[in-house]
Amino acid sequence: MKISIPSIEERKLKLERLRKIILRKEVLINKALMDDLGKSHFETYLTEVGFVIEEINFVVKNLESWAKPKKVSTPMNLFPASSYIHPSPYGEVLIMSPWNYPFQLCIAPMIGALAAGNRVVLKPSELAPNTAKVLREIIEEAYKPNEVRIVEGGVAETQELLKQKFDYIFFTGSTAVGKIVMKAAAEHLTPVTLELGGKSPCIIDETADIDLAAKRIAWGKFLNAGQTCVAPDYVLVPKKYQHEFLERLNFHLKNFYGDSPAGSPDFPRIINEKHFDRLEELLIPEKIAVGGEKSRVNKFISPTVMKDISWSDKIMEDEIFGPILPVLPYEDLNEALEEVAKRSRPLAFYVFSEDSKKAKAIMREMSFGGGCINDTLMHLANPNLPFGGIGGSGMGSYHGKKSFETFSHMKSVLIQKTKVDIPLRYPPYNGKLSWLKLFLR
Ligand code: NAD
Repeated sequence: MKISIPSIEERKLKLERLRKIILRKEVLINKALMDDLGKSHFETYLTEVGFVIEEINFVVKNLESWAKPKKVSTPMNLFPASSYIHPSPYGEVLIMSPWNYPFQLCIAPMIGALAAGNRVVLKPSELAPNTAKVLREIIEEAYKPNEVRIVEGGVAETQELLKQKFDYIFFTGSTAVGKIVMKAAAEHLTPVTLELGGKSPCIIDETADIDLAAKRIAWGKFLNAGQTCVAPDYVLVPKKYQHEFLERLNFHLKNFYGDSPAGSPDFPRIINEKHFDRLEELLIPEKIAVGGEKSRVNKFISPTVMKDISWSDKIMEDEIFGPILPVLPYEDLNEALEEVAKRSRPLAFYVFSEDSKKAKAIMREMSFGGGCINDTLMHLANPNLPFGGIGGSGMGSYHGKKSFETFSHMKSVLIQKTKVDIPLRYPPYNGKLSWLKLFLR
């Protein structure tokens, strides 16, 4: 089948056009994210607009070299041939996104898909309708429907969409829906990337700088009111430091959001009442060490920390995905790590330690999508680090060059010469085996 492939120049123009329109519509994007999630303009720039602008700049700068056919070496027995890998587009790509970073999680994968020369069908989340509306405006201004098409709708519409044949499906969302997507993709043998969620642990060891750990964990957990796929889901802390850790968390949370986080312009809201109710059920009043204020009408739960949590508490069953942080005190680090390793492999994993040898050994031995030593979330800020999960937290990855590779089929081409034609491979084979063994040994 012959497919029309946009030139590298055309792809760059598509991305530059997108950047221009996003920057022009920044006020509308800010308002949409404020209306959908109560997100401050600072957080919107940091995690949505600024993030995708950086990604566009990085991709435009490097696209030429990534997209070039790459010559690879050719073994002697194929002499005088030469060999190349041609990154080529899949064709039509379906990108489906969740509501928590409703702008970034539509645009960032789309950047990779367009850079690789694909056409895109974009399905934003129905739970962030204001952002979906701005996305439609941007897409319809930037692209013809045969370049990027936006399809809005809920579960029924998505299931209809999944019945159609695409050449690649890129899904970001829950593990449960990830399974539905993969089943639908299997019907057409469509390859998938699944960017899913799960419970991302955060381990503090005995050598850690407790104050700095508390500050960086508080930031990573309560950004976007905890509705971040790579947010620390729970913290394991040495029992003797639990008190100090809670005290430092309280201190930093007061510095971040004041005495009354409900009045802070920097603290977002829960996406909807259903999620508010789900989160409220996870609270154990007698274990609340920090926060615990809530208001269903305002979809608000203050940054809340629960202490003395054990593995059997309900909050340790599923991904929390909200502003509640359980702290589990431990006596023995190895036992704590074994408990983590028994569970589904996390999307992110964080270690706080001043013993860099030990921290690196833990990172090497545990299985997870990606993570940081002495920080949270920041591995996503480096476009040279592929972002994705493993096992229950997903498959495949993207960001930067990895996005380009994810949305490209690596086509192999061998170019043979016609001036010589070595007869060894042709029948009759009689008497040729020993020669063959000289080449293939
Ligand atoms: P979700 O799985 O409910 O929804 C994601 C998308 O799937 C939406 O577009 C929605 O319309 C569609 N969908 C929902 N139910 C469906 C069904 N039954 N059949 C077909 N399509 C359906 O996820 P969400 O609640 O929007 O987002 C939260 C989840 O996403 C969390 O688990 C979080 O960890 C994960 N997440 C992962 C990443 C990542 O990069 N790995 C990023 C953000 C969020």
